[in-house]
Order: sequence, then C-alpha cells, then structure tokens
Amino acid sequence: MHGKASKELQKEVIDKGLCTLCGGCTGTCPYLVVYDGRIVRLHRCDMSEGQCYHYCPRTYMDMDAISRHIFGAPYGEGEIGSVREVFLARSTDQVIHQKAQDGGIVTTLLSVALAEGMIDGAVETKLDEEKNPHGFIARNREELLECAGVSYEPSPVIQAINRLPNETTEKLGFVGLPCHVACLSKMKLSPPTNRANIEHLEPVIGLFCGWTLSHSFHRFLQEHFDLAKAIKFDIPHHPEHSFDVYTPSGKESVDLDEISPYINKACGYCFDMTAEFADISVGSGRAMFKGWNTVILRTKVGAEILDIAKGRNAIEIQPIPDESLANLKRASLDKKKRALKNIISMTGGVDDLLYLGISQHLKEMLLE
Ligand SMILES: Cc1cc2nc3c(=O)[nH]c(=O)nc-3n(C[C@H](O)[C@H](O)[C@H](O)COP(=O)(O)OP(=O)(O)OC[C@H]3O[C@@H](n4cnc5c(N)ncnc54)[C@H](O)[C@@H]3O)c2cc1C
Repeated sequence: MHGKASKELQKEVIDKGLCTLCGGCTGTCPYLVVYDGRIVRLHRCDMSEGQCYHYCPRTYMDMDAISRHIFGAPYGEGEIGSVREVFLARSTDQVIHQKAQDGGIVTTLLSVALAEGMIDGAVETKLDEEKNPHGFIARNREELLECAGVSYEPSPVIQAINRLPNETTEKLGFVGLPCHVACLSKMKLSPPTNRANIEHLEPVIGLFCGWTLSHSFHRFLQEHFDLAKAIKFDIPHHPEHSFDVYTPSGKESVDLDEISPYINKACGYCFDMTAEFADISVGSGRAMFKGWNTVILRTKVGAEILDIAKGRNAIEIQPIPDESLANLKRASLDKKKRALKNIISMTGGVDDLLYLGISQHLKEMLLE
C-alpha cells in the first residue's frame, strides 16, 4: 500500500481531471459515490491507507509487475501489448448480431462460457431507462443480451465487483474498457483480502477504446434525441463522420464535430487503447470489416474460451489483413504518445509520469 487514501485520491486524481469514472473506488466505501457523472467524496475520511487510492488506475501502475503477474513477462514495448494472435471474428448467432455493437464476439464468448459452465455470469455494463450506463451482473443468456451494444459514456462497472458479497464463490467473466481492466489488473496483482475473490473473475474481456464522452454529453443526447426510443448508439469509422442513434423507426445522426467537445479530459492521459491487461481484447472491424470484430488473444484463459467457441461453431474467423493490423498498431501507438505528451505537460517534466510506471527505455522510445 502507498500510505495514501481518499484525500490523496481527491488531490492527485479527481482534482487533476484524471478520473475515468471506472468505479474502482466506489461500492465498498460509504464516503465515495458516483454522482452526476463524477466521484464525490462525501466525508473527509481520515484513514491513512485506502483501497480507493491503491486500486485506482490513475495512481501508480507498476506495468512490469502487472505484466509479470498476467503474462509472466515484463511489460513489452509493442504497440498493442502482449499478443498471442490477432484476427477478425464475428458471431454466427443471429440473435446476438441483432443486438450487438459490431460482430457480437463479446456477447458470444460470454454466452458460450456460460453454457459450458465455465462461468456463472459476467460483470458487464447495462443501460437504464434513461440510457445511463451502470455495472450489472448478467447471469443468463437473456441478461447477456440486455448488455449487448455500447454506451460511449463511462460506466462505473468496477463498483459492481466491489459490491459482490465477500463469501461469493461465483465465477464471473468481466467486460470493460482499458481503464476498468487496468483497475482490475491492480486488484489481481495484490488482491483485496476483505472482498470477493478477485481471481474468480475471468475471462477478462477488454474493449478497445479511444475515449469516452462526459456526463454532460448525456444532457446533449436528451436535448437532441428521444432516448426512451433509442436502441443503439454508434460512432461509425472513417470515412463516416457522425454519432448515430438507432430507434425502431431508423437512424438519426449528428455530426461528430458536435460531440467532440464532450470527450472526457481524463482520456487524454490514457496510455492504453487495446485493454492490454485483458485475456482477450475486442474492437470493431472498422469500416473495411463492418459487422466484424478485431480480436487480440493474449492469454491461455482467453485461448481456452476461443477454442470452445470455435468448436461449437459459435464464431467465424478470418485473418486480419496486414494493412488493418498496421492501422491498429499506429492508432494504439498514437494514443500512447499523446498520453505521454499530455502527462509531461501536466507534470512539467519527464521524470514525473503521474501514474505511468514504464521503463526508461520505453519512455525514451515514445518521446523520440
Ligand atoms: C466508450 C467506448 C469506446 C470505444 N472505442 C472504440 C474504438 O475507438 N475503436 C474500436 O475498435 N472499438 C471501440 N470500442 C469497442 C466497440 O464499440 C465494441 O464494444 C467492440 O467492438 C465489441 O463489439 P461486440 O459486438 O463484440 O460487443 P457486444 O457483444 O455488443 O458487447 C458489448 C459489451 O460492451 C459492454 N459495454 C457497453 N458500454 C460500455 C461502457 N461504456 N463501458 C464498459 N463496457 C461497456 C457491454 O457490457 C457488453 O459486454 C469502444 C467501446 C466503448 C464502450
């Protein structure tokens, strides 16, 4: 532990605009809550050490230690993290396709794992009636389907893990953005002794992420669309340039430029586009492979579940073209360089990288 708690979390993370709203500090502590799209500290807690600070993905992350714990090797210098295989995939399940964001791989893998008894459910994100995202534990296929599709607003999904009963023996899959996966990876490195067994959370499925949109974007959505009728949100890839809201009667769009002011400031300091500490990372197939997912397989646990899905013909797979892989790597590298630049301009020097515990060599490489 760092000898720091919520006072330092407020000063070093929240006040600096670095909080991603992952929910890692909420759900166990009565004094930290999610309110109106931010973390609010209700009380001046005087604890000298707090899990709220320790597990936050924007307090120090020893990337080598986390990487050794998950992959058995120090944090590498590749653009997209530790990789066993990268390919394109999509679900063969038409019901999932109708609800899913892209190729439905996330919902299909969880569905297969559930049917095989590998998991009892999954910690996911679900939208309420007003389309606000929140953490939710899906325990059957119907509930998995209710979580399909995305919200571009941050979901404090780790809160759902923190609220699990300590004595639970349930095995749960997990889906989250890179910041969620980073928080979970810190928990796995030094598991909280007073909470549910964190090792029971697998597979960890990470989503690619460029950025999330702030809570004030929700008010923008309410002003421009009838959210009660919305069934899907999408930001299609270049050359399209829109934010789309699907309703049963069709698609309504706004220009992407109108939503860019709502991008969360915290995302400018994020180093990870592909959820590098996940078992499997999933993104869209981009414009060239609409309706498909780009999949990065990273661990043995990930390989097991993919093999079962392939064996059941639940997914179809094709190789990723070199050009698409190169684009993915470029986008991921750009995010790392941008984050590093923004971090350095916040701290005023290359010796203080805020939360980012990377090697001197990697730092120099990215700053070249
Ligand atoms: C904020 C955000 C930004 C993204 N940016 C990119 C990007 O730049 N490039 C790219 O290739 N892909 C990006 N993605 C991922 C992409 O949108 C799809 O989620 C991914 O391709 C999986 O598709 P699928 O059809 O397999 O998902 P589905 O089978 O439809 O499952 C979707 C899963 O996403 C989870 N989810 C939904 N909203 C959230 C949320 N706000 N936070 C955490 N989990 C959520 C659901 O619980 C569900 O498990 C982003 C996703 C999000 C949420």
